[in-house]
Amino acid sequence: MEGIVAVTYRCNARCYMCNTWQHPSPKTEEVTPAEVAKIPSGLKFCNITGGEPFLREDLGEIVDVVKSKADRVVISTNGYFTDRVVALARKHCDIGIRVSLEGLPAANDELRGIPDGFDHGLRTIIELKHMGLKDIGFGITVSDRNAKDLLELYKLALSMDLEFATAVTHNAYYFHKFDNEFKDPDMIAKEFLKLVQELFRTRKPKSWFRAYFNYYLVNKVYGGKRPLSCECGTDLFVVDPFAKVKPCNALDVEMGDLRTQSFDEIWNSDRAREIRAQVATCDRQCWMIGSAAPAMKKALWTPVQWILKNRRSFLNASEGELFELSAEFRPRGETLGDNAGE
Ligand code: SF4
Ligand code: SF4
Repeated sequence: MEGIVAVTYRCNARCYMCNTWQHPSPKTEEVTPAEVAKIPSGLKFCNITGGEPFLREDLGEIVDVVKSKADRVVISTNGYFTDRVVALARKHCDIGIRVSLEGLPAANDELRGIPDGFDHGLRTIIELKHMGLKDIGFGITVSDRNAKDLLELYKLALSMDLEFATAVTHNAYYFHKFDNEFKDPDMIAKEFLKLVQELFRTRKPKSWFRAYFNYYLVNKVYGGKRPLSCECGTDLFVVDPFAKVKPCNALDVEMGDLRTQSFDEIWNSDRAREIRAQVATCDRQCWMIGSAAPAMKKALWTPVQWILKNRRSFLNASEGELFELSAEFRPRGETLGDNAGE
């Protein structure tokens, strides 16, 4: 099982696709380290996210707790507070850090609404790299407005030997924004397909699995069904900043409350069973790494077969041919231009 702990809805960024910063969680109501300590032990992976997690003054305490519960812990951040990130990484050199950047400097600073945001994010990564932290990388959420920077940001990550995480813009209750959509899915698809080709060019099987994940982001952009069933609420749980346990961070339903219940009580409750039934029929078709990664690990043979079948075609494809490799997502060769995100 994997977990996501969103420690705050406060944020110093002003991203175009998210209004979380306009709806901050009151500091005094945020999930405490003692409440986080109620999550189960033996997790394979746990992501600490926000808002901006480094706004929490007690983030170090939360990290201590989460590290005792999970084999691998990764914090998602906009990377603005370089000193805070570096100080935490000094204490926890086995932690992962993903700095979210929306592209190269111009696109990032416009879309994230933080002056010099790219500069801060890159400085944070340079410092972490210099310290010898291993599990570091960039994360990008792709939309019409930054798709053209996708490949360049990947190449920057590759040249610095960093991880590269991708998502496409979507709508979620905690964004307080519901009109994110793709206006030019073909253009976005072409950029993702170039990334898939680049990922196949590496000799790392891990990158080939990422190729699979990114290929199906193209499917998501066209509004297709996810290729693997969603097991949120079974293989994945989310704790929100108010200590509520949820199946994922896109469906606004609560399985229980860590403030008043134990995790076991919540996980084995009738409410949790009802929510699992809801997940089984959920038609939102999210394809985000949080829910896709556990599904890919569970159905490992599916991505493996896809890799074996498609790697050569991607490696040999010209730019024009690349687009045709995603024809299965465009019924009758047309663009489904009405995709409205999540
Ligand atoms: S997307 Fe993340 S960094 Fe941007 S405003 Fe929302 S919570 Fe903050
Ligand atoms: S498909 Fe439904 S249950 Fe699965 S992550 Fe998306 S909103 Fe949650």
